[in-house]
Amino acid sequence: MTHQSETLCAEDRLKRAGQHLCDLIAFDTVSCNGNRALIDHMAAYFGDLGARITILPDETGAKANLVAAFGPEDVAGLVWSGHTDVVPAVEPEWQSDPFVAELRDGKLYGRGACDMKGFAACAMAVAPDLAAAKLTRPVYLCFSYDEEVGCLGAPAIARYLAALPTPPEFAIIGEPSMMQLVTGQKGKIAMRAQVNGTSGHSSFAPEHVNAIEYAAQAIARISERGRRYEQEGPFDADFTVPHATMLATMIKGGVATNVTPESCGFTFELRAIPEMDPEADMAALLAQIETEVSAAMAAKVEGTGITFERIFAYPAMGEARNTAGFTRYASLLPAWGGKVSYGSEGGVFEQLGGIPSVIIGPGSIAQAHRPNEFVSLEQLGLCVDFLGSLISHLSQQAGAGRT
Ligand SMILES: [Zn+2]
Repeated sequence: MTHQSETLCAEDRLKRAGQHLCDLIAFDTVSCNGNRALIDHMAAYFGDLGARITILPDETGAKANLVAAFGPEDVAGLVWSGHTDVVPAVEPEWQSDPFVAELRDGKLYGRGACDMKGFAACAMAVAPDLAAAKLTRPVYLCFSYDEEVGCLGAPAIARYLAALPTPPEFAIIGEPSMMQLVTGQKGKIAMRAQVNGTSGHSSFAPEHVNAIEYAAQAIARISERGRRYEQEGPFDADFTVPHATMLATMIKGGVATNVTPESCGFTFELRAIPEMDPEADMAALLAQIETEVSAAMAAKVEGTGITFERIFAYPAMGEARNTAGFTRYASLLPAWGGKVSYGSEGGVFEQLGGIPSVIIGPGSIAQAHRPNEFVSLEQLGLCVDFLGSLISHLSQQAGAGRT
């Protein structure tokens, strides 16, 4: 291939990526609205190109994951993964319709442009090349639902891939990283607490079990653990915040200034680095609150106390750089950009699917979840070039050249 035709080819891929991104942004896939129409659109596209299509719907059928596989089935392959849901776009600061892509100054604006329909559009743009290549290893294009509300779709994909006769050996998650290599992501456990006390005129306070005051005692223990992570670790200097964090995030309770509050609800979260056991830490905290706070409530008035409910949890993504999958593609991967504290499906693929994972995707997380979200054409260009280089690396011709 001449240099000139390579350039034309790259331009063509970028143009295709931009068109696919416009199509994808037009689907309103805010998590609560479902993603089924978009998944059917992508499945039809990849299916027409000859991919093996697997749709993994949720129990309602309104949401689904998609796995489109290209290449042989009997060798360990590569996963390209992204979520198709987006966060709501109700901010008044939007300068254009968030579900109609708009190109201004080399940037494509729209909800999901960088988080993360941009990556999906790039995968679609290079899919004809995947279909045409004589692949030596399979590539699994995986697109999930409900990542933004707690990585709810990805576990089914991870389990599906892990159950294949030859599961994939490496996953690239296309979350926005400015096309840098990200090798770690924090895990999260989000919890809800309900404090049930007793009520009455506040002038008789000593007779009551004040739900807000006991909630405060429980929250003090949550903050104390947060402080301990900050002071004692464990530490991982590759993260911007180099330790786990734990904090209360919402609270509601009480009915009037002169009534002892009977009820108080609050939420809290633990964001864990890969080197720790967040489940054990959370269990220890709940046991501590049970013995030090709830027991005192029940001793005063039987039946009062604190109950806990898990809202969602997803695991941290650990270090992939010492794995065989990583090594196979190491020479093609972009410069290392550290580890991130935001959630991604990488931890799910790694811990539930046993697939070492990294994050590499177009656009910046700084533009995600904000009005006027955009991805630059330059970033989309870098992404299609990167995916194209992976295809060349996996194609039979390149394999013959390497021997
Ligand atoms: Zn995302």
